[in-house]
Amino acid sequence: MQNKAVLIGFDIGGTKVAVSLGDFTGKIYGGARIENNDSYPEEVIPQMISEAKRLVSEHGFTMADVAAAGISSPGSADYRNGIMTHPTNNKYWRNVPIRQLIADGLGCPAYFENDANCAMLAEWFFGAAKGAQDAIYLTMSTGIGAGIIAAGHLVCGKSGQTGEVGHMVLVPGGLQCNCGLRGCYETYCAGKGLAQRMAAELADKPDSMLMQLADGDASKLDMHLLEKAVRAGDPYAVNLWDETSRLHAQAIGILINSLNPEKIVLGTFAWAIGDLFMDPILKYLPEFAWKELMEVCEIVPGKLQREIGNYAGIAAALNGLYEAGKFSFDQLK
Ligand SMILES: [Zn+2]
Repeated sequence: MQNKAVLIGFDIGGTKVAVSLGDFTGKIYGGARIENNDSYPEEVIPQMISEAKRLVSEHGFTMADVAAAGISSPGSADYRNGIMTHPTNNKYWRNVPIRQLIADGLGCPAYFENDANCAMLAEWFFGAAKGAQDAIYLTMSTGIGAGIIAAGHLVCGKSGQTGEVGHMVLVPGGLQCNCGLRGCYETYCAGKGLAQRMAAELADKPDSMLMQLADGDASKLDMHLLEKAVRAGDPYAVNLWDETSRLHAQAIGILINSLNPEKIVLGTFAWAIGDLFMDPILKYLPEFAWKELMEVCEIVPGKLQREIGNYAGIAAALNGLYEAGKFSFDQLK
């Protein structure tokens, strides 16, 4: 039955909602964008439903062809009950029962997962981790989070929060994190933490290469400028990069030894920066992971890259069908 079916995906971001129509093979028929800039869910959700219906009919399908819808959003949320509780990037969205509203609006099953889980599922069904029974996806941009596949299933945990690896404490007593802990992985290695650290360390050093690249404005320091300074051989930047790479290796080593994955897919930094990002992590990894576990684990940049938002919700929908026994990987062959 799923051979003919289509899937609807929603990726709810802080300024836009992406709607996409695809199928279980990863074919994307089309998509739409809805503004969600300081908007109320009462305005946005009806548009999500109408745009999805429009895409379905525009591509020659009927709502009877829609097997499921999937919703991807960042936290905080009650994923088990399908409720966006207080997403940090949408100030008017509070305790929104998104899964039920979408299911009722479209008349099909709806599934809701956090963005890191959806990225994992997207790379698992359609991208770099296809076919892996044990895999990890690490989002690596503003923050760091993970989606984890173990023994062929997405792991969700007691309260649906598996994968908060960005808040593994790598440096006890280290830099303060917004989460309340100190020394979290993402405080040192993600874009926001790195920007804050560079600003704190360089604001009074206008002659430094990084401050010059930032036109003297410490608030402009970011990962992109850091990469530039590393490529230009600036000693401060090279040193920071080296320290950060070793911490990435520490975190990835912990994950390898804990979960024995066959695939680790790394998000934005890995595919956007390339070897300069990957090589030093791989160099330091033997300090933190067992050789025999590293040998069976392939560490690769994400394949879906900028397109991942189009697959996120569709992957959540497909995983919902998979867990309900209505889809099997044999259908991808
Ligand atoms: Zn933290």
